Amino acid sequence: LVSRKKKPEDTVIEINGATIGDGNTHYVMGPCAVESYDQVDQVAEAVKNKGIKLLRGGAFKPRTSPYDFQGLGIEGLQILRKAADKHGLAVVSEIVNPAHLEEALEYLDVVQIGARNMQNFELLKAAGDINKPVLLKRGLSATISEFINAAEYIISRGNGNIILCERGIRTYEKATRNTLDISAVPILKQETHLPVMVDVTHSTGRRDILLPTAKAAIAIGADGVMAEVHPDPAVALSDSAQQMDIQMFNSFMDDIIDVANKF
Ligand code: PEP
Ligand code: MN
Repeated sequence: LVSRKKKPEDTVIEINGATIGDGNTHYVMGPCAVESYDQVDQVAEAVKNKGIKLLRGGAFKPRTSPYDFQGLGIEGLQILRKAADKHGLAVVSEIVNPAHLEEALEYLDVVQIGARNMQNFELLKAAGDINKPVLLKRGLSATISEFINAAEYIISRGNGNIILCERGIRTYEKATRNTLDISAVPILKQETHLPVMVDVTHSTGRRDILLPTAKAAIAIGADGVMAEVHPDPAVALSDSAQQMDIQMFNSFMDDIIDVANKF
């Protein structure tokens, strides 16, 4: 059902006035993890000031180590909702357990399914039964075909509002956290009718190359860019090496909007 052969026209998903898949570039920006209301509020204000409609933030964090910060859970979603409402933003946040979905739907506008859960088939089925958009990230070691099949799990249950997100794959290369598979973008655009975004933060793990990778994403036809922003990345409870501070975010947005206007 996600195949372009089944539906030649692009799927366009309207979220808070952003029409993702309409040929323009859209942005999902916010901290890696929700840490406090004040932290999210500062980022949300900066995000709103750049005309962005979607605020991200992790409340359920799938961390490699069980001893790392696991997120604030439902309380984190409540914080996101409050800050998003204050600034007129939509909430994008990851859910890792189907049992959390129903309660989470009270607070979020887009359900993110993270890389580590791309083949959590029960979670995919549960996301297919809801009536809110899903942002589905590519698995760490998933082929494009496996990625498309994961989206098929969601749409086959009735929910066709799916945004695909390339976030880098695991290769032998260690200079970046993951290897951004930029060619996945046009392939996914050709093979499916779904919008495709690129997460430049998790694919690179390096804030010094967020701008060039975001430019590449736009040039190759991505419908949007995701990146992480934190008021003080040095003290962030997760992903401190790769989040932008607000000053860097502001100049990143100025530069990237300039590029997007040329396409
Ligand atoms: C995230 O976006 O917060 C995240 C954990 O990313 P990924 O699932 O792509 O690793
Ligand atoms: Mn992160």
